[in-house]
Amino acid sequence: MFDKFFSIFSHDIGIDLGTANTLVWVRGKGIVIREPSIVTMHKKDKKLIAIGTEAKKMLGKTPASLVTIRPLRGGVIADFDATSAMISHYVQKVHDTNGFMSLWARPKVVIGIPSSVTEVERRAVWEAALSAGAREAYLIEEPMAAAIGEGVSVFQPTGMMIVDVGGGTTEIAVISLGGIVVSKSLKVAGDEMDKAIIHYLRLRHGLIIGEASAEDLKIKIGSAYQNQKSKLKDQKQDTAKERMAIVRGRDVETGLPRSLRVTETEIREAIASSVVQIIEGVSDILEESPPELTSDILEHGIILTGGGAELSGLDQLIVERTHIPVIVSDSPLLSVVRGTGKVLEDKELLNRVKVTGGLS
Ligand code: ADP
Ligand code: MG
Repeated sequence: MFDKFFSIFSHDIGIDLGTANTLVWVRGKGIVIREPSIVTMHKKDKKLIAIGTEAKKMLGKTPASLVTIRPLRGGVIADFDATSAMISHYVQKVHDTNGFMSLWARPKVVIGIPSSVTEVERRAVWEAALSAGAREAYLIEEPMAAAIGEGVSVFQPTGMMIVDVGGGTTEIAVISLGGIVVSKSLKVAGDEMDKAIIHYLRLRHGLIIGEASAEDLKIKIGSAYQNQKSKLKDQKQDTAKERMAIVRGRDVETGLPRSLRVTETEIREAIASSVVQIIEGVSDILEESPPELTSDILEHGIILTGGGAELSGLDQLIVERTHIPVIVSDSPLLSVVRGTGKVLEDKELLNRVKVTGGLS
């Protein structure tokens, strides 16, 4: 009874527990936290040193006694302790800013999780939220959260497809009547592209670069599709307009630092195989979808979201390969967390989309 009364003062929390980024939404405030999903811990006793942005600063610079990990890398919970620590940290951080009211008003928490996590992992996430002080904790699958965040009315009997290209996973799902009809979680997304760039530069140019530099190159000059205009230019051997970037690394042979100028074409070539796998995943899901839903998707298009949706030309390539229109999210990094927020504000919606298996 008191719990119910004080719940009006509680700051309910929505969390997008992404493989690359964690975002937190708070009722009445909107998105209050956007940090990388990274944790630094002591190797031996797993004592927490830093979380999020602080931990990212330490990446690659920690002494042997510390480890910096991405607990959700690959879309599975690779490290339970680190994942729980992350959830507790953010729930408590928001809770503490709620002043003395936080003594009574414990928050309701909704967490978006990759659809590939197992039941055991789901339970761990759920328990972490409760032990961090949540009054109630609910999980929703990321593709569903993303669709809701994009403003799709998920209960319509009209099929829609959502493709969320994140860091560790690409979630592809067809949603109809408030449920996921077919889905796939590929372990190929932004991280895989970064790795491919590292591999390419080492092989082609004998240059060793780190993950951060590779990601930087991908964001600056990466593309999935060579548009018609530049194709024509290439034929005329005119590549003057091609985007380029300078990257610094270590020479394989000499071990000394060296800079290299890299072109857009090279990066496109480097990440091509990751991009193709994503498109194949989309085609597979289209094939597995019931024909009625496929025709809905054909009519309304595919919604492309997640950080990878910002990769230049990815939408065009999907259109070219599938002949289905693609709608790119306006703010692809925010779809899931916005979805968790909308779900928190609508009890009926929450009840219909929450994950139930084994959580009680
Ligand atoms: P997750 O949901 O798995 O945490 P996000 O949706 O936050 O992932 O997306 C992070 C991924 O998006 C990273 O791999 C990042 O490099 C990539 N990304 C961000 N911006 C761009 C961009 N402009 N071009 C290509 N990739 C991008
Ligand atoms: Mg995500």
